[in-house]
Amino acid sequence: MKIVTIKAKDTESGSQNTYLIKGKDCCILIDAGCSIDVVKKHTDLPIKAVLITHAHYDHIANIEDYDDAGIPIYISEKSFEILNDIKSNASDLFNDPRTFVIKNINTLKDEQEIDISGCKIKFYLTPGHTKDSGCYLFEKVLFSGDTLFSEGIGRVDLPTGSSQELKESLSKIKDIEYTNIYPGHGEISDKQIQDKLIPKWQRYLNIIR
Ligand SMILES: [Zn+2]
Repeated sequence: MKIVTIKAKDTESGSQNTYLIKGKDCCILIDAGCSIDVVKKHTDLPIKAVLITHAHYDHIANIEDYDDAGIPIYISEKSFEILNDIKSNASDLFNDPRTFVIKNINTLKDEQEIDISGCKIKFYLTPGHTKDSGCYLFEKVLFSGDTLFSEGIGRVDLPTGSSQELKESLSKIKDIEYTNIYPGHGEISDKQIQDKLIPKWQRYLNIIR
């Protein structure tokens, strides 16, 4: 398994990290900040699924193109009202106010396991940054979206954000057996570092609640 980081800043919507998981015969994409054309420059293998960490604009900007290509989209069951609201999906902040309709949608519940072409991936609902925020665990790698960054946590002041929920989600992440963390923005990190930082973020979240 190889993970390629594709920075959306090279193309469209800010500094979002779209991750391409390259398996032996197929690929899986984490988030859709990058266009399908850019992703295809990194692989000739078919993209079997797009897994969305949360329905903020910078993570789903190109989702409809993947959907139109017939690629199954996986997203939290809590995402519907966020996809349908220009304030909740932050598209208004990115000066492209719109809602998103996904045809090939597969909704995920907390701790649901999915099998994509033999790749077993587990979804953890980790609300706080948004109520639909989640992480995906695949072979001890945790794709943490905007819940947890290498040196910070996601903001909680946008619609559906909650400092209390993020605090609880960070405890949940601490209990997950992962080795490396691939966040929705910034650099990758590891569990050792994050286990030390999480209590610090939780104290901060206590203050701002
Ligand atoms: Zn976000």
